[in-house]
Order: sequence, then structure tokens, then C-alpha cells
Amino acid sequence: MKATELMDSLRRRFPNEPEYLQAVEEVVTSIEDVYNEYPAFERYNLIERLCMPDRVISFRVSWTDDQGRVRNNMGYRVQHNNAIGPYKGGIRFHSSVNLSILKFLAFEQTFKNSLTTLAMGGAKGGSDFSPRGKSDMEVMRFCQAFVNELWRNIGADTDVPAGDIGVGAREVGFMFGWYKKMAREFTGTFTGKGISFGGSLMRPEATGYGNVYFLLNMLATRGIAIEGKRVAVSGSGNVALYTADKLITLGAKVVSMSDSDGTVLLPEGMTREQWDRLFELKIAMRGRVSEFAEAEGLEYLPGERPWKHAACDIAMPSATQNEIDGDDARALLAQGCLAVSEGANMPSTPEAVREFLAARILYAPGKAANAGGVSVSGLEMAQNSQKLSWTAEEVDNRLRDIMADIHGQCVEYGRQPDGYVNYVKGANTAGFMKVAKAMMAQGIY
Ligand code: NDP
Repeated sequence: MKATELMDSLRRRFPNEPEYLQAVEEVVTSIEDVYNEYPAFERYNLIERLCMPDRVISFRVSWTDDQGRVRNNMGYRVQHNNAIGPYKGGIRFHSSVNLSILKFLAFEQTFKNSLTTLAMGGAKGGSDFSPRGKSDMEVMRFCQAFVNELWRNIGADTDVPAGDIGVGAREVGFMFGWYKKMAREFTGTFTGKGISFGGSLMRPEATGYGNVYFLLNMLATRGIAIEGKRVAVSGSGNVALYTADKLITLGAKVVSMSDSDGTVLLPEGMTREQWDRLFELKIAMRGRVSEFAEAEGLEYLPGERPWKHAACDIAMPSATQNEIDGDDARALLAQGCLAVSEGANMPSTPEAVREFLAARILYAPGKAANAGGVSVSGLEMAQNSQKLSWTAEEVDNRLRDIMADIHGQCVEYGRQPDGYVNYVKGANTAGFMKVAKAMMAQGIY
């Protein structure tokens, strides 16, 4: 396999899918050497089969708003690969959603799920519907119309969706309710469900906490303590809030949060009371970071991301893809940033990743660092199958073990001759090998 030839071919066939091509290029260039050590892979054209999704389902979603107007959105499910388990991956509701973004996310999810050590394939779905500014009833009608189209393609042993941007407990609840009605079964077809109907304790916390656990593992390799470290966090949704929560518990200083409108700076570090108020504002009232900044008398930077403004030792991007560009990366490095651990999926552009690797800082790509969310989703599936609920402590302990295991796999496959751990190479290679071997064993289908 020549990565450049493969990429040329994919660019010709999918010219309008930049995010998908970006994600594929990162993986194939980093696994090229190890792939070519196994001639059988090439005989089976394994890499091309692994880069292209097994199946893409797309559909129109029509629903009625509170004024009685009929609204139309597009809905998608990308079932990327189920070589090691049922398709598994979140649903994203955001105005920016398109096929390219969902194909990149489903591709990444396949490697991430492989790293978790649990039996889950990779998928992703979503719609260009934005829940922002919609009433609960509008969101419910949309979710029902979305699942009306999707339900025949998913199932507890087929494809198990979960949340992502714009899809939290409310949306999962509405989708699960309609799935249950259509399929006439109560099974673990969605994860991220409410606790009273099969959800797992610790699932809301899992991605943010898991990212901090991964960070702790990375810091330990250099004997660095988290206490007192200034951490710039972006976003203020599920992942960002629980990242901040765990950091505060561990004595780190959270020096920024953001949303798509701007950034709030907290140079002294966020207090536990401030976190409680931000959580209430974001989750219960669906408010904005600007309102938080105003209420707390903090500096607010409209239209800005944190990276050039929040003096920090560590960055934990937790909002969206491509939110750290080359300039942002250079700004972070110039102020002495020693680690970047990604809560979001592909938040760093290829140029930013090159900067981090060249500077030899601790850099964890999202497919390793944010795998805690899907890991606890996997644990939710296991609990649903057993019709049992595990304690928060039990789930948290398993989450810590899984993150340590993923870290170990990255070190094993990513250690360079000079001792530097390239977590990108490590995560991609470890995730790839497991899926590739399973695909080889199952023949061509
Ligand atoms: P939420 O919807 O809960 O929060 C998303 C946050 O990011 C919000 O603060 C949102 O701001 C901000 N944001 C979204 N889009 C943009 C944008 N285009 N520019 C700037 N800010 C933006 O989503 P999650 O916290 O669940 O997801 C965040 C990231 O983590 C995503 O990349 C997701 O794929 C990834 N992830 C999530 C997992 C999970 O378990 N939830 C698991 C693994 C990864 P606003 O309110 O203004 O839209």
C-alpha cells in the first residue's frame, strides 16, 4: 500500500468530503509501514475496504414546528465497520452536519472502539437539525421523525447509537421512546439512556473523566503532577463540563471554557461553586457562556477560541473538529504548553498535529483520549444484556482500567527509537491491527 496513491484515489472518488479525507489520511500515513509488513493485507485490498464505510443510510426527516410549519432536515447513519462487534457510535444534531463529517466520525470511531478492548464496531449518525432554540416538543417531534426512518437499521446486536454534539439525555430519551414503540421491544439499542430505563451510572461523566484519566497516565510517563496545572478547556457541553469537574477535583486550574459564540477566561482557575453554576446554566437552562461570564464578572471574548488567550500548561479541546489550527498550536507551544489531550474528535488540524509532534509534547489524539465515553457505553450494553446495574464505583474503576489499557497500547505501538511516545501512531496502529486481523479472518464480504 502506498498511502499517497490510496489518498489520490479517495480524493478522486469523494472530492467534496474534506473532513473524511483528513481523518483517513492521518490514519493511513501513520500505519503505512506496519501495514506493509503483512503482504496478505494488500492481497485482500484490506486498507481500501477499511477506509470505505460498509453502508451509508440517508433520509429526509420532516417534522412540524410549534407554529405548524413543516420543516425538513437530512438524516444519516454511517455504518462503517462491524468486524469486531455491532456498529456503535453517537448521533450528532448540529447545523454543520453533513456526510463528510459523519463519515470521518464513523471512521475514527472504528479505531477508537477497537482500542477500548470491548466488542464494538464503528458507526456515526446525525442530522443538520439544531436543537438550539427549539422547544422540548419540537425536539421530541424531530427525534421521533428521525427514528421513524432509522429504526429498522439499528438494534441491540446490530447498531447501537448514543449521544454526541446536540444529543444528550433528552434527545436519547425521545429517540429510545420512539424506537421502543416501533420495534415493540425494550432492549439496549441506545446508550446514554436515563438511569431509570437502562442507562449506566457514570455515562454522562465518562468522556470527560476518561480524558483526564488518560492525561494522568501521560503525565506519569514524565513524572509530572496535575495539581496546580493550568488547563485550557474549550466547549461547555457534556465533555467539557465533566473534564472541568474532574480537573477541579484533582486540584488543577481550569482557566477557560467556551461555546460557539466565544470564550470565558478564568485566570485564577474555576472554583467548585462556579462549576456548579455553569453546569446549572448549561444543562438545566441551556444558557450561554456569555451569560456565565457576565454573572461572574469574568472576561469574555466574543468569537474567540481559548488557545491564544488562556495562559495554560495543558490544553483539552472539548468542543468540535478542527478547533485548533496551526497558529493556535504555535501559540500554545510558545507559552510552554506541555500536553494536549483531546476530548473532542479531531479538534486539531493536521498542521497543529505536526506542530505538537515536532515539539515532542505529550499529545493524545481524540480516538485514544476520549474513548472513555464509548467504553462506558459498551459497559451500558453489557449491563442491559445482563439486565443488571453496576455501581458508580464499579463503572468508574472499569473506566480507569480501560483508559490505562488504551494508554498502554499507545505506548506499545507508538514508542519511537529515541523514547518519545507518538500517541497518534500508537493509537492508529493498535486500533488498526485488531480490526484488520478480524477482517482477514472473516473473508471478503
Ligand atoms: P455538546 O453538544 O454537549 O457540547 C458541544 C460543545 O461544543 C458546546 O459548548 C458547543 O457550543 C461547542 N461547539 C459545538 N460545535 C461548535 C463549533 N462548530 N464551534 C465552536 N464550538 C462548538 O457535545 P459533547 O460535549 O458531547 O461533544 C463535544 C466533542 O466531544 C465533539 O467533538 C464530540 O464528537 C466529542 N465526543 C463526545 C463524546 C460524548 O460522550 N458526548 C464521546 C467522544 C467524543 P454551542 O452550545 O454554542 O453549540
